[in-house]
Amino acid sequence: MHQDIERILYDQAAIADVTAQLGAQITKDYADKNPLVICVLKGAMLFMADLVRQIDTPLEMDFLDVSSYQGGTQSTGEVKIIKDLDTPLQDRDVLIVEDIVDTGRTLNYLVDLFKYRQAKSVKICTLLNKPETRVVPVDADYVGFKVPNAFLVGYGLDYAEHYRNLPYIGILKSEVYQTK
Ligand code: 5GP
Ligand code: MG
Ligand code: MG
Repeated sequence: MHQDIERILYDQAAIADVTAQLGAQITKDYADKNPLVICVLKGAMLFMADLVRQIDTPLEMDFLDVSSYQGGTQSTGEVKIIKDLDTPLQDRDVLIVEDIVDTGRTLNYLVDLFKYRQAKSVKICTLLNKPETRVVPVDADYVGFKVPNAFLVGYGLDYAEHYRNLPYIGILKSEVYQTK
């Protein structure tokens, strides 16, 4: 285990397991819909890659980069699009893939934006859900794990761009981000 990690919450096997379950459900729900599966960069990148390989029905993918954190551990409340989609959303069944829902601001903003762009349907699949810290309402349709209010890294999730490559999800030691 990495020395900056306090505790592992979900190891590779647990992540693979829940991803297979989510993929099976999405396969059923989206049969014959050719959904547009949208990865919210960069955090959801690893989850997206594993999830789509568990979805056994035709789909398309696109990628969007948003920022709300600007390197720290607290949300600033502002959502900014860094890289927009390439695909028009009109009449598409959209499935947003996220790493974690925290305040809910990012997904609340994206769902509104995608509806404004006239998507036929917009659903959310998030690997992690942190319900205690919600500020604006978000209803995730597919959730991997409900997590406690701690700062998590690994499997795509970063602190200042580090730890994304850890194969597990763990709690970051607070001394790593607390400055004296
Ligand atoms: P929200 O807009 O829901 O507050 O936050 C969404 C984004 O904040 C997530 O996609 C993720 O990038 C980041 N985030 C929220 N909680 C955590 C966390 O515990 N660890 C990390 N590394 N990022 C988080
Ligand atoms: Mg994210
Ligand atoms: Mg981040």
